[in-house]
Amino acid sequence: MKRQRSRALYKEAQNYMPGGVNSPVRAFKAVGGTPLFIKRASGSRICDEDGNEFLDYVMSWGALILGHAPAAVARAIAEAGRRGASFGAPTKAETELAQIITRAFPSIEKMRLVNSGTEATMSAIRLSRGFTGREKLIKFEGCYHGHSDSLLVKAGSGGATFAIPDSAGVPRGVSRDTIVARYNDLDQFSRIVRNRHREIACVIIEPVAANMGVVLPAHGFLLGVRELTARYGIVLIFDEVICGFRLGFGGAQTLYGITPDLTCLGKIIGGGLPIGAYGGREEIMECVAPCGAVYQAGTLSGNPVAVSAGLAVLRTLSRLDYGAIEWKTEHLCNGLGERLRSKGARITINRIGSMFTVFFTGAGVTDYRSAKKSDARAYARFFQAMLSAGVNLPPSQFEANFISFSHTRADIDETIARCAGKAKR
Ligand SMILES: *Cc1c(COP(=O)(O)O)cnc(C)c1O
Repeated sequence: MKRQRSRALYKEAQNYMPGGVNSPVRAFKAVGGTPLFIKRASGSRICDEDGNEFLDYVMSWGALILGHAPAAVARAIAEAGRRGASFGAPTKAETELAQIITRAFPSIEKMRLVNSGTEATMSAIRLSRGFTGREKLIKFEGCYHGHSDSLLVKAGSGGATFAIPDSAGVPRGVSRDTIVARYNDLDQFSRIVRNRHREIACVIIEPVAANMGVVLPAHGFLLGVRELTARYGIVLIFDEVICGFRLGFGGAQTLYGITPDLTCLGKIIGGGLPIGAYGGREEIMECVAPCGAVYQAGTLSGNPVAVSAGLAVLRTLSRLDYGAIEWKTEHLCNGLGERLRSKGARITINRIGSMFTVFFTGAGVTDYRSAKKSDARAYARFFQAMLSAGVNLPPSQFEANFISFSHTRADIDETIARCAGKAKR
């Protein structure tokens, strides 16, 4: 497979951008080699500058549930662009998008559009602090909520005592207000909340974790978190930036029947354009300026092009049957699992809806620690073999694969065949 152009472009990009990229995971550090420079994509296929074509399971990190460049979305973007890229004033389409989102998520009574998932979680946390008058927050180890200071932390040596920065440049003073708990450990969570509830403004969680690879909530875990936060007046934030409109039209909260106080959305709701949203109980949302005292704003928030793309995606999605992509995901996981095990690999596949992760460990993966037991080098070899066979997987063990409505049964069968090394390239 030719990689000359990607190599040359990567070299040139490094002269101008740190690591040659605008987001670190794109640089292939976890798997080695040169990142592909993408020229175009359509449906389930993505093409690089060297003219190679790949079956894509990254799908812009889950944002593209309809596949690459679906006609309805491409048309909506072009038409919105002709009407004007930004006005800095309200538009009818923003209300239309809010109507679809609030109908899909009954827990969202009022909402705000922002420009990224990071902005959504950051704003939801400030709002929780403003609403409760408390300052600390709990996050779970291995969950990712964007790159704002309070959320870029990891567990300190004392376990659930206080967090330490997970990045240079995050002040210790900020990270000390974040408590890191273990995902799926309700006993530990309950101890923390009972001891410290007077200081805790909010709990933020990925209801299905997808940023340590896919990790499902254990039976009763989300319900336990909901009951404890409700009992102590702590704001429960579901970060559904990935799960929202992915695990069904009403996200993880509908699937599991849990009502959070606030929800963060992103990715899918922008159809590949930059967007985010946060919303929830009216009583809380009314604390946001100009109604209330919590300030939050954005020059490009509710951008008409992004909103048009999002509307086109959600209107299409509302008519589709999620069972179709779930079934394909199951078929793919069974096929990949069989091939890899027959070659002697020890793997665990976690799967829900249209997302999955192949962990290179024989033991179950239920939290960050068990995810970290995976053999990341074995994953890197798998990644490179699949890439050479024309299949684009996420360039890290600790990420989710995504299937879109544009992936066909034939695509899935071809992917399984390529895993077996049968396909000629
Ligand atoms: C991607 C992601 C974010 C951050 O969104 P950006 O648009 O990258 O800022 C936040 N939370 C979760 C769960 C995500 O997967």
